[in-house]
Amino acid sequence: MKQDFPIFLRKVNGNSLVYLDNAATTQKPACVIDAMSHFYTSSNANVHRAVHTLAGEATEGYEACRSLLKQRYNSTRAIITSGTTEAINLVARSWGESNLNSGDVVVLTEMEHHSDIVPWQMLAERKAIELRYIPVIDGELDLDAFDVALEGAKLVCVVHTSNVLGIRNPVEKIIAAAKSVGARILLDAAQAVPHEMIDFQQLGADFMAFSAHKMCGPTGIGALLVNDTAFDEMEPFMGGGDMIQTVTLEGSTYQTNEHKFEAGTPRIAEGVGWAAALDWISKVDLQQHHKRLLSIATSIKSSLQERGMTVYSPLGPDDAAVVSFTHPTIHPEDFARLLDAQGIAVRTGHHCAQPLMDKLGVSGTIRASLYLYNDDSDAEVFLSGIDRVLEVMA
Ligand code: PMP
Repeated sequence: MKQDFPIFLRKVNGNSLVYLDNAATTQKPACVIDAMSHFYTSSNANVHRAVHTLAGEATEGYEACRSLLKQRYNSTRAIITSGTTEAINLVARSWGESNLNSGDVVVLTEMEHHSDIVPWQMLAERKAIELRYIPVIDGELDLDAFDVALEGAKLVCVVHTSNVLGIRNPVEKIIAAAKSVGARILLDAAQAVPHEMIDFQQLGADFMAFSAHKMCGPTGIGALLVNDTAFDEMEPFMGGGDMIQTVTLEGSTYQTNEHKFEAGTPRIAEGVGWAAALDWISKVDLQQHHKRLLSIATSIKSSLQERGMTVYSPLGPDDAAVVSFTHPTIHPEDFARLLDAQGIAVRTGHHCAQPLMDKLGVSGTIRASLYLYNDDSDAEVFLSGIDRVLEVMA
């Protein structure tokens, strides 16, 4: 698989690259890079507006991305955004502003990424809505507390798979419970779609947000899947070109499809690149890789524990291959710099989930997150890299 990814040809600090920062972003296969380069070389034009050949090719390339998204995730609607963050903000602005009122309850969890906390806090300031956070206990959402919090809830926002700990939440149960009280439900699937196939309609959420760059696609593009009922409840929040049907000096009418929420020139080359990534990943058996990567992560976890590290990731059978850990005395950043000197890329810090860090009682962790191209040899290099750090710091 690594041969599909040109970046693995480079050396980092004199060593072959061992890339274990996949929860932050994944590497891009040559077909994605080529598709974007080909677009700029031979088809570059703006979409939707002109009749010339290049505009037709650009529109076709961009809209192919939307069609692939709808097909792969079984959704009737796919609004293209700049990523998960914009998709969640879009729900807050386009749905939240017009459907939530003072005193209404939005249920979140302590495990959310900042992008699924801050937009709701901002909305709460504007509309005096109440935010309730489901606690995390021993790495799991407290579902009893969730049932209590659901009382009067209008919206439930849950991270499907945690970027910090790899935990895959019981989203099926959460969706069923939210629906039983008539609440709408938003899934942050940024770390879910890279690791498992999701049938959006079957799962039954109202909104699902994710980013291309975490599944081998380009940065700066993502999607919000919306079911028809919730779509009809949304009002556009960004006005401009492409989202209108007619504009007069007296007022405007809007498109009725996804374009209503995509004002302005979209991310055309990124759409073309994402379409190539979706095509590439459609040939990958995610389930088989999930098992393989989880088993590598589990053996990394026990090796780290043997070396005196605290590992926070439970690595249950459905969890993503993410190993978050700390050393009793070595600061995560010192650790990561010493690994980087050996060509090993890991992430450190709060991973945009400060409330979860507070819950774990740490200011940050070191996170090794695996993806499709990682293999046993990466785990070996990583562990010998760890030993080298421990030697240097002894
Ligand atoms: N949610 C989760 C769970 C994430 O891991 C991330 C990215 N780290 C985001 C949201 C935000 O994604 P983006 O920066 O692509 O908008």
